[in-house]
Amino acid sequence: MSKNKSKKISNREMLKITKRAFCTLYRMHPLVMVSGIIRTLWGALTPYIGIYLSAQLIGELAGNRNPERLRILVLWTLISAASIGLIGSVLDRWNDAQRRKIWWANDHMFVEKGLSMDFVRVDDSETQKMLSTIQQNQNGGGWGLTKVIDQINGVIHNIFSIAGGIALSVTLFTTPVPESAGKWTILDSPVFLLAIIAAMFIIPAISAIISNKANAVFARGSTDHNLANRLFGYFCYMGQNYQMATDLRMYEGWASTSMAHTLKKTGLFDSKGERAKQAKGKVGLLHTLSGAVSKLFQLLVYLYVCLKARAGAFGVGGITQYVAAVTAVATGASRFISLWGDMKNNAVFVKLIFEYLDIPNEMYQGSLSTEKRRDTDYEIEFRNVSFKYPGSDTYALKDVNMKFRVGEKLALVGRNGSGKTTFIKLLCRLYDPNEGEILLNGIDIRKYDYDDYRSIFAVVFQDFKLFGYTIGQNVAASEKYDAIKARDCLVKAGFEERLNSLPDGLESYIGKARSDTGFNCSGGEAQKIALARALYKNSPFIILDEPTAALDPLAEAEVYTNFNAIVEDRTAIYISHRLSSCRFCDEIAVFDNGTVVQKGGHDLLVSEEGGVYASLWNAQAQYYA
Ligand code: ADP
Repeated sequence: MSKNKSKKISNREMLKITKRAFCTLYRMHPLVMVSGIIRTLWGALTPYIGIYLSAQLIGELAGNRNPERLRILVLWTLISAASIGLIGSVLDRWNDAQRRKIWWANDHMFVEKGLSMDFVRVDDSETQKMLSTIQQNQNGGGWGLTKVIDQINGVIHNIFSIAGGIALSVTLFTTPVPESAGKWTILDSPVFLLAIIAAMFIIPAISAIISNKANAVFARGSTDHNLANRLFGYFCYMGQNYQMATDLRMYEGWASTSMAHTLKKTGLFDSKGERAKQAKGKVGLLHTLSGAVSKLFQLLVYLYVCLKARAGAFGVGGITQYVAAVTAVATGASRFISLWGDMKNNAVFVKLIFEYLDIPNEMYQGSLSTEKRRDTDYEIEFRNVSFKYPGSDTYALKDVNMKFRVGEKLALVGRNGSGKTTFIKLLCRLYDPNEGEILLNGIDIRKYDYDDYRSIFAVVFQDFKLFGYTIGQNVAASEKYDAIKARDCLVKAGFEERLNSLPDGLESYIGKARSDTGFNCSGGEAQKIALARALYKNSPFIILDEPTAALDPLAEAEVYTNFNAIVEDRTAIYISHRLSSCRFCDEIAVFDNGTVVQKGGHDLLVSEEGGVYASLWNAQAQYYA
């Protein structure tokens, strides 16, 4: 089991992290903090009213037994118990209702961060690992921001418990044993008093420190716990995901044995595994020891209070009050120390959350605006552009030079892995080049406002995704949409017939995520909707990565025949493996091994014998001959 010893955090740092967590949670949802604190204060202070009244009642019963006073005491005990309970329940309900919203607010904060983060960071495996660890810490051990709510309430509760307990137990130490008690007056000796007061804080502290040691073992093992949880979660996902259902049925033996085997190897959910061993062994022993130490203290308190009552310092009612009050101080002190340890354990996890939330957005530095008039004469130039993916040693693109103007039709061709998609990703500024520059109208694209620059491109990526909304909303990429425009784009993309066959037309949901009656589209249908989405955006540049890969030959022919009408006067850049479909393009750029090896029209390229284009063309042509 790996130990995260390096993750230890100082008290100062823990306080700083907890303070920031408090402010973050407060900003996220102020009422959850306010209702929690009010409920906590109520819970911490009201028990003392009951303790005080019970002590008075028992004292009266054991003493004068004045019926009038007894009646009043009983009445007040009942009224206070009922109203404290009632108000407590109302506060509980209020706080519970607020707490439900904090989960949503917490998730929403991560979604917002993910959506606003530079793509290069989203795509970075380190970022993905970070987010996955944060989620696993939260789902597995409950570690993270939301735990801070309970911790802050716990700290407040215990401070007030201690204060209330001290207030009610002061007279235990100040009320002397009468002289007539003879040798029992020793109980008033300052040494005795100091010893009892010291025990009141030291013994619970020892108990809490032992318990903290036990909890720290589990906190340090969270990495292993997370791994088991992740694997378990993934296998559950596999078993329930209908998109994997066909492959799982065909390769079922592998899936079930692999799942059992992998989980067994982690051993964490096993009754003989590492975690179970710890629970039975070290952690269990430490918890037992901590419990025993705290019981030992209770024994001492009972002994001292009863002896003082027997010596005549106070009556039977005093025993109830003082035992309850001293125990409250000791329990409060013990829980406070435990909480401190827990806060230090949790601060490690919260720190990781803040590291994630603090990831800077470097792409948002530019401020120039792109002029969005349709008649704007855009010109894009790649100048000596080279690029390596983060964490990779090899160039995905090397020394690429290319220029194209608005209105042109450009095709990118080449073998798999030759750099075509990477070229598109750099053009759309999902990544920035490591060397060289990309210019829009002669100005480095980094100088433009990031969102403004990206808005001039509409892209259909090879691995595009449709969302669980209606067809109309998918096409518009927005909840509200212009139905006439959406239909027009779907018609241009070849989806008209299918759209007419759907009873709810544009209002038909895609997939079952949001509607039971949603329809599952085929790969080809999805590609047509994705193409319509790109057309709806009305951007001056339209980029299509393998736009017809999932279409049947008739639909494909239809798209290419109508291509010029579909893309109108936009600049169209598209990647295709079907070279016959590139013939209508003004220019074809041939990629090989991250560089552009040939450029020109189809007739020119096919005539360059020994060139990559000619070899790709000939390889395809033989199937159609
Ligand atoms: P193409 O679109 O021509 O098939 P790509 O541009 O997708 O090629 O890939 C070019 C090279 O970059 C390939 O060697 C590929 O393995 C690598 N590559 C693509 N995406 C990533 C990524 N996210 N991280 C690391 N390497 C990548």
